[in-house]
Amino acid sequence: MLFSDKLHEECGRTVSASISIHDSLGEKQEVLFSDKLHEECGVFGIMTPQPEDLAHLTYCGLFALQHRGQEGCGITVNDDGMFTTHKDLGLAEHVFTPQVLGSFPHGTAAIGHTRYGTTGGSQRRNCQPMEVNHQKGKMALVHNGNLSNAAVLRSALEQRGAIFHTTSDTEIIAYIITQARLQTDSIEDAVRIAVSQLEGAFSMIVMSAQKLIAVRDPHGFRPLCIGTLPDGGYVFASESCALPAVGAAFLRDLEPGEMIVLTPEGKLISDRRFVRTAPKTICIFEYIYFARPDSVLDGVSVHAARKRAGALLAEAYPADADVVIGVPDSGLDAALGYAQASGIPYGIGLIKNKYIGRTFIAPTQSERVSAVRLKLSPIRETVEGKRIVLIDDSIVRGTTSRRIVSLLRDAGAKKIHMRISSPPFLHPCYYGTDIDSEENLIACHHSVPEIAEMIGADSLGFLPAEVLPQLACSEEICTACFSGDYPTAVPQSGSKNRFEQKLHAG
Ligand code: SF4
Repeated sequence: MLFSDKLHEECGRTVSASISIHDSLGEKQEVLFSDKLHEECGVFGIMTPQPEDLAHLTYCGLFALQHRGQEGCGITVNDDGMFTTHKDLGLAEHVFTPQVLGSFPHGTAAIGHTRYGTTGGSQRRNCQPMEVNHQKGKMALVHNGNLSNAAVLRSALEQRGAIFHTTSDTEIIAYIITQARLQTDSIEDAVRIAVSQLEGAFSMIVMSAQKLIAVRDPHGFRPLCIGTLPDGGYVFASESCALPAVGAAFLRDLEPGEMIVLTPEGKLISDRRFVRTAPKTICIFEYIYFARPDSVLDGVSVHAARKRAGALLAEAYPADADVVIGVPDSGLDAALGYAQASGIPYGIGLIKNKYIGRTFIAPTQSERVSAVRLKLSPIRETVEGKRIVLIDDSIVRGTTSRRIVSLLRDAGAKKIHMRISSPPFLHPCYYGTDIDSEENLIACHHSVPEIAEMIGADSLGFLPAEVLPQLACSEEICTACFSGDYPTAVPQSGSKNRFEQKLHAG
């Protein structure tokens, strides 16, 4: 068993994750950190020269990508053209029990997905991989990102008689690829036709009976990389942190617009037809919050980017303080950067309960038993009587920040100077995150001093938007949720559940 040579605690009840937000009486409960942004999705694909237990390897890859989505997950294994799929709501470790993993056949290719649904509700039918049988064979598909022209594409398909079974963008992509496949000689030709019609963010992996194909959209909003396996074979993953988890070595990132085709003969074919057909605009929030700190995206370490954000914050918003602490997990690297740049000692001031999933339901909505208090505990020795610089990655509605500040005050903090390693959110995102309504963004309605007062901080400083390129060491980034400068045309409605609403209305 994993970590079996570690000491184990004795007793005590642990809490379990749930995705429901209603209790048995039907009353709305508080989902932990519900005012934090959510990740989009994680995709994984693997191809080996000989049949292997790829379900287990894909499970390990999904485990490493779990931070990108905790609503649901799935795996499809290709055993000589026979596809076996299992997918469900829940974390990978709950969905893929030893019995489920043991029921998969060995295969030469597999794909997997961890989902946070940015479009489509939390139903099992919206989980991926999405499997399609068509006249010329079959394919399965996993996808990360949101299409900014999804509504237009879906409407056009429906007018031509398409019937959708899910409310996610992924089925739109599957439909377009399948229609193209019926007119073309190869799956890669069909994927190419689909890519020419899609707008917005998509990093996806398509598995046919013979091939494995990975594509990154021409803007490169979402990351996607490829690694090599020691005995031959390749791995695709949303983030490089998933490669060591399956024993693979990092080869390179896919370029925005690049399509890589893996053939059964072990060939890797790179199709660069869509490369540089649009300006590259990788999501800057991947570096600030979404990605794991041990990942390297487009050649830039996420950990180093977060440390730079902290150092830049220290420059822009210095503070008279005794200690710098970070909100676990994504505030920690920036806190270290702030401490190193300012010369103020770094301390561990908050501990996270690692057994609570992001979707754990707090028992009440009251302040006294808030979800934050279940998730985070202050270390009194670090904070009592101290002037603190508190670093977090973002403020959405402000409720979580207010509770963390109050937690530290109760532990004896004398002053709390809050510093945020991103600029204020002012605009919705249409590319695969759940920033979908300006009315919920505190910075759209209040000035920085007002927000400081609302969350109870002595001072507040956000990372200036003009330094964002320094995080990614590139000007080729998307900053639309901060600047309103969208790299593509934007849809009229970007709500996560826009197709749900349409279905219900009908
Ligand atoms: S709008 Fe914001 S969250 Fe969305 S892709 Fe752009 S930078 Fe990332």
